[in-house]
Amino acid sequence: MRSTMMDVQLTVSTILERVGTLFAQQEVVSLLPAGMDEAGRPIPAKHRCTYGDVYRRAKQLAHALTDAGIRPGDRVATLATNHFRHLEAYLGIPITGAVLHTVNVRLHPEQIVYIINHAGDRILLLDNVFARMIPQIVQACPQLEKIVVMGPLPQAVPGVVDYDAWIGGYGSDYRYPELDERDACGMCYTSGTTGNPKGVLYSHRSTVLHSLASALPDALDLREADRLLPVVPMFHVNAWGLPYTAAMVGASQVFASVFSDGASLARLMQEEKVTLSAGVPTIWMGLLQELERAQVEGQPYDLSAMRKMVVGGSAAPEALIRAFDRLGLYLGHAWGMTETSPLGTNSQLPPGVDERSDEGYRLRAKQGRAVPLVELKLVNADLEEVPHDGQTMGNLLIRGPWISESYFGDPEASRAAVHSIEGRAWFDTGDIATMDERGYMHIKDRAKELIKSGGEWISSVDLENALMGHPAVAEAAVIAVPHPRWTERPLAVVVKRPGAEVSAEELTAYLEPHFARFWLPDAYEFVAEIPRTAAGKFLKRKLREQFQGYTLP
Ligand code: ADP
Repeated sequence: MRSTMMDVQLTVSTILERVGTLFAQQEVVSLLPAGMDEAGRPIPAKHRCTYGDVYRRAKQLAHALTDAGIRPGDRVATLATNHFRHLEAYLGIPITGAVLHTVNVRLHPEQIVYIINHAGDRILLLDNVFARMIPQIVQACPQLEKIVVMGPLPQAVPGVVDYDAWIGGYGSDYRYPELDERDACGMCYTSGTTGNPKGVLYSHRSTVLHSLASALPDALDLREADRLLPVVPMFHVNAWGLPYTAAMVGASQVFASVFSDGASLARLMQEEKVTLSAGVPTIWMGLLQELERAQVEGQPYDLSAMRKMVVGGSAAPEALIRAFDRLGLYLGHAWGMTETSPLGTNSQLPPGVDERSDEGYRLRAKQGRAVPLVELKLVNADLEEVPHDGQTMGNLLIRGPWISESYFGDPEASRAAVHSIEGRAWFDTGDIATMDERGYMHIKDRAKELIKSGGEWISSVDLENALMGHPAVAEAAVIAVPHPRWTERPLAVVVKRPGAEVSAEELTAYLEPHFARFWLPDAYEFVAEIPRTAAGKFLKRKLREQFQGYTLP
């Protein structure tokens, strides 16, 4: 029997309409680069506008796109950092039925070109700070019909359109076309940490449902009264969907564009009374250093408005969570990936567990429980479920309405990533995890980064997180090195804190009480820095190349 309920389509247009009608007065603040100082560093300048402005301009953009021949299903790319114009593109492109394709600006230019061509983008909107890339893109991407620059250019570039002037030629009376909620509205490529970039297409429906679930109090907990600073870039997994979630609930947004260093963030958070923020662990490590420095010098920042800082993208070491607690700042751990929109789990504590107790910290260092509508499964190589005992490692599978079932134009990768179990599709995350009796998931490694020693598995993530708890260690990454007898053994690559000293023996002694003997790294290498991915995660593929042929003692 069918219900009597209306069959209303879940579309991004509904989010934009809310923004314009209910939250028009809410602020959107963007810290933008305005020229360079003598040392070649960008000079920050603040731009303030409202959701009302964003609403009008998103509709002007929709008009401009339609006038340029963009039709439902066409891809419109952005190569841009976090700011109000990018937010307009987030809203203005999907409402026409076109697909917003956010291209990761930190990828190698060859990968950027590959992605633009693979996606078949027709128009590209890019930040003025990336204008130097235009000639190469024009030359290598013949299907691009129009290049639009967001932000002023010092001088006009032939064939390039200025965004403000372009949309300024249109009215804001755009009428939303009827859209099917299952059609694509957004597109992201995985950043290729473990292979070639692969395209994921989000639907209107998945975007709306993901926004609703993310906003829940026991998920990311976003409200109208919040002032959100998503440090996580809008060119990487839609800044974890936060621009849509914030717009849906009416939270103000504060954008940092190119300014993601600790001092810039601390200042912006203080000045704008930011209440909620989100970023990868390396971003928070930078902020922590700045906050601790300021405190030691007797001029601490006032971040008392901050309710929660979401950390994800790679594992948050327990030591980092504790360090922020000491400053009165709460780190909330979440997990996800490009293919999962990204929110899959969130580490909310169950009632009765004190967030500052040892049990609380142990749980907060885990990635947490599945958010509503998402299901997780932990399996062995034969796709049989493994026990939820908090000990047994297994391959993590996931399904849900905002989880990808395939990759764009890549049937081979799609087949490899999706399993059918009892007729239902499960996406294989490529992550190795444990699950406890209460459903708290703990990422142990990526399958490709797990260390296989004498038939046993060693979690590089556990070792890294423990090492980063040592006072002399700033950063640590553990990789597998081939071994004639044990197949693989762990090598720890360590960055010391400025001015600190520590030896391999001291680190072994530090780890010993917490790990089985065979888990302890065979060797330590002290380096100046650990290579990072486009999203700021440790790039272990590069480290493995760097230490290829390494002879263990
Ligand atoms: P990339 O593969 O380029 O890093 P994604 O951003 O999609 O692209 O990364 C997803 C992966 O990041 C996950 O499969 C997982 O391994 C890792 N990850 C994400 N969040 C966490 C977290 N909170 N803890 C540990 N690992 C995480």
